[in-house]
Amino acid sequence: MASKLKTLSLNKKITYAFTFMMTLAIIIITVVVDNTFKVEFDRYIDNSNKKKTEELNKELHDIYLNGKWDIEKIKEIANDAIIKGVAVEIYDKNDKLVWSMYVDAQTSVSYNLEHIKKNTKSIDHYWDGVLEDHKYKVYDENGEYIGYKKIIHYSSTYYMENDIEFLNKINNFMIVFSIFAIGSMILISIFTAKSISKPIVEVSEISKSISKGMFRNVNYKSDIREVNELIGSINSLASDLNEQEVLRKRLTTDIAHELRTPITSVQGHLDAIIDGIWEPTPERLKSINEEVARLSKLIGELQQLARYDSDRSKLNKSEVYLKDIIQNVIYNFETKALEKNIKISFDIQNVWLYLDKNKISQVLINVLSNAIKYTNENGEIFIKTYLEDRFACISIKDTGIGIPEPDLHYIFERFYRVDKSRNKETGGLGVGLTICRSILDEHKGDIIVNSEVGKGTEVIIKLPKEKYII
Ligand code: ADP
Repeated sequence: MASKLKTLSLNKKITYAFTFMMTLAIIIITVVVDNTFKVEFDRYIDNSNKKKTEELNKELHDIYLNGKWDIEKIKEIANDAIIKGVAVEIYDKNDKLVWSMYVDAQTSVSYNLEHIKKNTKSIDHYWDGVLEDHKYKVYDENGEYIGYKKIIHYSSTYYMENDIEFLNKINNFMIVFSIFAIGSMILISIFTAKSISKPIVEVSEISKSISKGMFRNVNYKSDIREVNELIGSINSLASDLNEQEVLRKRLTTDIAHELRTPITSVQGHLDAIIDGIWEPTPERLKSINEEVARLSKLIGELQQLARYDSDRSKLNKSEVYLKDIIQNVIYNFETKALEKNIKISFDIQNVWLYLDKNKISQVLINVLSNAIKYTNENGEIFIKTYLEDRFACISIKDTGIGIPEPDLHYIFERFYRVDKSRNKETGGLGVGLTICRSILDEHKGDIIVNSEVGKGTEVIIKLPKEKYII
């Protein structure tokens, strides 16, 4: 059984991911900063404890004067020192105890050392609390060795009341900072997730409604480039589908109309003949035949379009002489042109190209038949070829009715016709140029139309100069 993939909304996914990453980053930063700080702070404490011992030693420099120990001075200095966690003892040169803080002020020593022990253990549970002593020699005013002073304190880093206060302040600051930073990160994550997911959710909603046939646009601007591109693509997809939908609906009406007109006419004629109202004279039968021919032309065009739709990307390329195909097409249209007294002149280069001869002939047929269709009597058509960087170009220019600017954008759409009134003369289905574009796309060529109403139209067919020879 396939396991079902658990899905999360984009908003939640981004929020969780962001929050997780940011929290992790803050925890790492806090731990690193905290440890570095602790190491530096311990170094500072050790230095200051060392200094305390040295200063105490200096203070205790002339404690033996005029042949006797100055016990009062020793007491005074030792009482100050024990508050800072340092105990003092004095011995004579025979190692005999002269004075000891442990003897003189036992309670004060144990109180102060215990207090420091408690403080330090509150920071470092594994702190050993071992004491160490340093001996410094004592000389009299004549420089004679008299005895020594023993300065005793804890061997590993120990903290005084104010050090603990300072450490606690720093710890509290780190906790408040972390809570504040994580809180801000969560807010930023929610905000960022919303700003990314909101337009995507909107695009997804619009896509759903597009799939149901409601072609709405996304009216949202994001400050993320990719999201804006996505919105742009969805909007252009919606408007393309909308245009296609309009064209499709028009096609149904157009085909129905196109087929109904000749069928009604043929049916009317036949009914009248069957009812004996009209004689089946050759003229009447000819008129019926013309309508049937028109019907079959329309069906032919539909078939042709269907064929190109299913036949895409099957090019049968060979080396062809451009002049030959263009001239062949012109010969086939000479009679049609003559009927309207349209003069066709040309200036064609000798170029060999590598293309699908039949399909390119079809392009020329469609473009030239349009030029004749949409050029009034006594007009002119001029065909020339020229070479560009990557293309061999065929220009077919007529002096016909031209195409209004707004329609130029649509003439390559299938079933699009500028003149919607579809008279018998010009009755096409509006698929000729669609077929041209699809053939040229297959050839990696191009087709461009320049036109001015009342002056004429120029269609430029661009064929790639693949394997070309002049
Ligand atoms: P159709 O079968 O209607 O000719 P096309 O796809 O060949 O269809 O052309 C689309 C529309 O473009 C035509 O209906 C016509 O209005 C316009 N058109 C094409 N070629 C020309 C031209 N040479 N002069 C004026 N209008 C043209």
